[in-house]
Order: sequence, then structure tokens, then C-alpha cells
Amino acid sequence: MTDPTEGRLRLTILGGFLGSGKTTWLRHQLHKRAFGRVHVIVNEAAEAPVDDALLTAADQMTLLAGACVCCEARDDLRRTLLSLCDQRSRIADPAQRLENIVLETSGLADPAAILEVIQSDPILARQIVVAEVIVVIDALNARDQMQQEALSRAQVEAADRLILTKTDLAPPDRTAQLRATLQQAAPGAAQSAAVFGSGLELADVAADTQPFALPDLAGQDAAPIAASQLDLGDTPDWTAFTVWLSALLYARGDQIVRVKGVVRTPAGRLLLQAVRRSVQSPEILPPQGGPERSDNEVAVIGRGFTQDQLVASLARFSA
Ligand SMILES: [Zn+2]
Repeated sequence: MTDPTEGRLRLTILGGFLGSGKTTWLRHQLHKRAFGRVHVIVNEAAEAPVDDALLTAADQMTLLAGACVCCEARDDLRRTLLSLCDQRSRIADPAQRLENIVLETSGLADPAAILEVIQSDPILARQIVVAEVIVVIDALNARDQMQQEALSRAQVEAADRLILTKTDLAPPDRTAQLRATLQQAAPGAAQSAAVFGSGLELADVAADTQPFALPDLAGQDAAPIAASQLDLGDTPDWTAFTVWLSALLYARGDQIVRVKGVVRTPAGRLLLQAVRRSVQSPEILPPQGGPERSDNEVAVIGRGFTQDQLVASLARFSA
């Protein structure tokens, strides 16, 4: 097994609409030392004072204020990340090296656009692995936000993990409806709840719970998002698969919101991830880590295609 400290720096992107409770959640995680040796980057679209409690809970912190790092301030983010990679590479003792970066995004950021910043820089793409996209959802206001704001939907769609806040204040039937809607918009994302930063288990949503309607926003493709599972078989042809995936993302990148899976290759078990058109360079996983059962299965989440179409397309490519 490779030494994990020689691996890439792990980046967690913390997203969520304005006022969803990102900072409260993060502060509690930092107090619990959930991210080990961590550097926190806080991005505020407006000029804003730093949260003192957050400052004391993080080992190190950088504030990027005054513009959003998914759009206007992309270069600031790139520079900050490059500088963290550089500092880390100068520390000889792996036990002292930075393990994690948590980027608390502005409430106006699209996590997929931030992934693009990393993928478009050859140094960052080599040195940073995006560990998780966590999106905080305000159970009281998410319905209005998702019905009115394409950005709010984009945040949900990019999530690996959705954390619902204010579930103690929202009527249970409304929370159930929200969760059914989130399941539809982000079928691959795990859902949990947090009240004042502490985690809560969520019961399963009753199967007959109706999601709320999401009106078409500004000509946005309104076809429902579905998760397709591709079984690559016991001995997948990694090269053929990646060529196919690149072609698919090139042709249909607007319709694909997420690709995720673990593929066994001669080089090891590779974690493959893409958000929209942006493919992360595959991370090599420990040989026995994670459930082997799901190896060689790749989830493709998006709209406007069926699982059968994907399977047929891949079969043509591999032939
Ligand atoms: Zn932005």
C-alpha cells in the first residue's frame, strides 16, 4: 500500500446557498478535529469580517473576501491553493504536513466551477484531490431557493453529501418533501441533518412522498435527472473506457452532472470522478479500502439519456 502522506492534498468544498448554515457546521467539525491538520479557506462574495470562532478552531485560515472564487476571483483561489501546495512540499516530515483544505464557498458559488479551477491548472490537478463536495441545505428556505434559483439547483446537483440544517424548525412533512426533491436532483448524494452543527440521523423518506415541482428556469433543460449505473465487468479496458468517457463528456457534458466510480486497473483501484465536463485525475485507492462490491461500477448522473443508451454507446466504443 502506498504511503497516504505521499498522496495529494485533500480538498473539501463546502457549498450551500446564502444563509444555509455552512459556517456553523464547519466550526463544529473543526472543534471535533474532523479534518486533521487543516487549512480553511473562507470565501465571502462581499467584504466581510472573519468569524472569530472559526479562526480559533482552524490550524490556519485564509480569507478571500470581496469576490466569489467560482467566477471573478478564480485567480485568487488558484494562487492560494498553489501557495498551500508549495508550503506543504517544503515540509520534510509527513507527520507535520497539511492533510486537508476546506474551502467554505460564498453562498453564490457553483461547486462545479470551482472544480474547473483545479482541473484547469496542471499543478493543482496533480497535487490536489477533491475529497468531497458537501452542500448545506436550509430546510426552511431550500424550496423557494430551488424553485427560483438555478444556482441553488446547481449546488445540489454537484453534491456528494447534502447536510440539512434547520430541520428542527421546519414541519416534518415539508422536510420529507424537500428530501424527496433532493433525492431526485442529486440521486447519488448522501443526506444527513445537522442542528447547531451536531449531526442527526435521518429516517428514510416514505416512498410515496412527492417531490415539489421545480419550474423551468431561464430555458434550463427541465428533463429530470437520473442516475445510471454502468457495469464494466471483471476486467475493464481502462483506456477504452476513458476515451469513451471523454467523448461522452465532450458531446453531452451539459447534460451530465456527475460521474463517479471505482475501477480496478493494472495500476490499482482508481477513483474516478467528474462534475459536468470536468474530470478529476483519478486517485489511486488502497487495495482493500472501501466496499469491493462496488468496484468496476460507474454511476453517471444526468438528464436527457437513459441507462440503456449509455450501455449501448459504451459497447460500441469497446468493440
Ligand atoms: Zn462565483
